[in-house]
Amino acid sequence: MKNFFSLTMPQLKDYLAELGKEKFRAQQLFRWVYVQGETEIENMTNLSKKFREELPNYLTFELPKVVEQLDSVDGTRKLLFDVGDNMTVETVLIPSEDRLTICLSSEVGCNMACRFCYTGKQKLKKRLSTEQIVGQYVQAAKTLEGEDRRITNIVFMGMGEPLDNCDAVFNSIEIITADYGFNLSRKRVTVSTSGIVPEMHRVWEAKVRLAVSLNAAYDEIRNVVMPVNRRWPLEVLLETCKEFCAQTKDSITFEYVLLKDVTDSLEDARKLPKLLKGIPCKVNLIPFNEHPGSEYKRPNRQRVLTFQKVLMEAGMQTLIRRTMGRDIYAACGQLTSKFEGRPEMMDMKKPSNDLHI
Ligand code: SF4
Repeated sequence: MKNFFSLTMPQLKDYLAELGKEKFRAQQLFRWVYVQGETEIENMTNLSKKFREELPNYLTFELPKVVEQLDSVDGTRKLLFDVGDNMTVETVLIPSEDRLTICLSSEVGCNMACRFCYTGKQKLKKRLSTEQIVGQYVQAAKTLEGEDRRITNIVFMGMGEPLDNCDAVFNSIEIITADYGFNLSRKRVTVSTSGIVPEMHRVWEAKVRLAVSLNAAYDEIRNVVMPVNRRWPLEVLLETCKEFCAQTKDSITFEYVLLKDVTDSLEDARKLPKLLKGIPCKVNLIPFNEHPGSEYKRPNRQRVLTFQKVLMEAGMQTLIRRTMGRDIYAACGQLTSKFEGRPEMMDMKKPSNDLHI
């Protein structure tokens, strides 16, 4: 038995051929599911009665269940999915002026152990399957039915390190971007990594965009904040970034979490432009979102603006990421698989003055 949402068109054709079925059935099935939005076999009326009766014996259309939906006052939506074995993952829809970006999770927990990250507090518990990743997209799109908005962009910046689960992540991208799938442009898909250098070629081979979670300008600091740096230090990481730009002629987004008194100094700000010299890029500054038990603090607004000013004066393209969904714990670095250990959710109907820096 296979799950339909785990398969690309060629994989489904091969599977049907193995079962002695006509390959053109694959096209019909993809059309029903991804174009017509139909997953009830009895409603797929152009399939023969015999094929419809047999189908449940070798193909399931099961999707991960949405166990909770939280809507923020700012339009951000967080969905909690049941991914089996008593585990859940979170997916976030983030609106901006002309976009609706879905932030997908690739793992439950994460082995990268970045010290500022809520997810990184849990060890890796499970790598999600292709159908669980595609399923987040399908189910999130369903929650938008009847609303005047649709998903325009994907970022793999939810729970987990996508390059630690390459096969499922890139298979999902194949399905979502294919013309027989959701036909989303590959230029609207971004894979974000903490810096697993040996797998970064998969990003340029898939012709999608790259974001790198940088978060420090010096190895000594990055070694502490992001242990992955001990294996692949800044010099090696940035050489691979240059290779990405050469291969794709594309630029890179560097994410930089500002941790008070750890990564937010003037010295750090002055070092960054030197470090990133020769790499077409922009730097997203993310003032740290504090979470229960976090050892780091959020810098004040002035400190963040000063950091940005130094980068801008050095000619760097940079923006301060607006914090979205903070009232529903959907902001960057706040995702986890359980609600345990969190303070009471804020009243989502009440606008908060503390949503942006
Ligand atoms: S920031 Fe990303 S890579 Fe680092 S621990 Fe969190 S989920 Fe894993």
